Amino acid sequence: MSELRWDPIKQQWVIIATDRGRRPRDFTVETEDGDMTCCPFCYGNEDKTAHELYAIRPSGAPNTPNWQLRVVPNKFPVLRVEGDLNNRAYGMYDVMNGIGAHEVIIETPDHKRGMADLTVKEIAGVLTAYRVRLLDLRKDIRFRYMVLFKNHGVMAGATLSHSHSQLIAVPLIPPLAAQELKVCREYFEAKERCIYCDMIDFELREGARVVQEFSDYVVITPYASTFPFELRLYPKRHGHDFALLNEAELSGLAVAMKDMLSRLKAILRDPPYNFILHSAPPLQPRPGKPEFWSSIEYDFHWHIELVPRLTQIAGFEWGTGFHINPTAPEDAAAFLKEAAI
Ligand SMILES: [Zn+2]
Ligand SMILES: [Zn+2]
Ligand SMILES: [Zn+2]
Repeated sequence: MSELRWDPIKQQWVIIATDRGRRPRDFTVETEDGDMTCCPFCYGNEDKTAHELYAIRPSGAPNTPNWQLRVVPNKFPVLRVEGDLNNRAYGMYDVMNGIGAHEVIIETPDHKRGMADLTVKEIAGVLTAYRVRLLDLRKDIRFRYMVLFKNHGVMAGATLSHSHSQLIAVPLIPPLAAQELKVCREYFEAKERCIYCDMIDFELREGARVVQEFSDYVVITPYASTFPFELRLYPKRHGHDFALLNEAELSGLAVAMKDMLSRLKAILRDPPYNFILHSAPPLQPRPGKPEFWSSIEYDFHWHIELVPRLTQIAGFEWGTGFHINPTAPEDAAAFLKEAAI
C-alpha cells in the first residue's frame, strides 16, 4: 500500500507509491508503439480494463463495445479504496495510508481523436461523466478532495496517448488547493466579495487577456501567468461547485472547452498540456471544526486551469519558486484570439 508522508519543513505531503516499486532501470521514458490492438482504451478491448463504473452507450451491456465514453478504475492506482487511513505520528513526521480512489475517464473509443477533436456533444458527455463520478465519490466520507485532471501528450505525463482524463479522490486537501481556498476565504472575510468574481469583472473590462468570451464562460490568460500560454476558464456567474451544473450549463461549458482546446491546438500545433478542475471539496462537517466551510458557497469560484508544457522547469525555478515566463500573457491572448479554428 502507498503512504502519504508529511515533510514538516517544506510543509507538504508526498505520496510514496510503494506499489509501483520502481528500480533505477525502470526510470526510462515510456513511449508508445502505436499498436492499437493492445491499447486497453480502444474500442473492442473492453476486457483489458477493470469493470466500468459509468458509461455512455446507446445500447448493449456494460463492458461490451458500442460505447461513446467509459469510466473505469485505474489499473495501477496511486491510491487504493480498501482500508483505513490510520493517520499517525512517526517520530517527528506524520504518515497515513494511501487511501483514495483513482479512476480513468476514457473520452472516446477512437484512438486517434484528442479532446479538441471531439464534438461539442461528446465533450458535454465527458463533462457529464466528471459530474457523475464526482458526486458518487463524495459519498465516501474518507475522501476530502477530488483531483480531476487531464494529461495530454507524453511530455505532460500521459503514458497512453488514447484521450483520457483522470479522477483521484484523496484523503486530505492538497496543498495548492488548500492555499487557494484559504486566499478566497480571507478575501471574502475582508471584502464580502468573491476574489474570482472581482478578477473576472476586471479582466472583462480590461480585455487584453481575454481569449474568448461566451454567454456564460470566459477564457483568459492570467495576469501573472507562470508558464507561456497558460489559460483559465471561468464561469461568469458565481458558483463554488462544478458538480452542481445543470445540462444547459454543461453544454455551454463544452462549447467553451472545445473552443479553448482548438485554439491551443491550432496555434501551438497540438502541444502537450495539463488541465485541472478546481472545484469546492466535499463539504461534510469536520469533527471539532463546525465553521470549516461556512462561507465557501460565497467565497470560492470553480474554474479550470490549463498549462501547456512548452518549457522545462530548471534549477532557478526549482531552487527559488520564481518562474520565468518568456511569453507575456497579453501576447498569448492575442495569438490565441487570432487562431483560425
Ligand atoms: Zn486506443
Ligand atoms: Zn465568484
Ligand atoms: Zn485554481
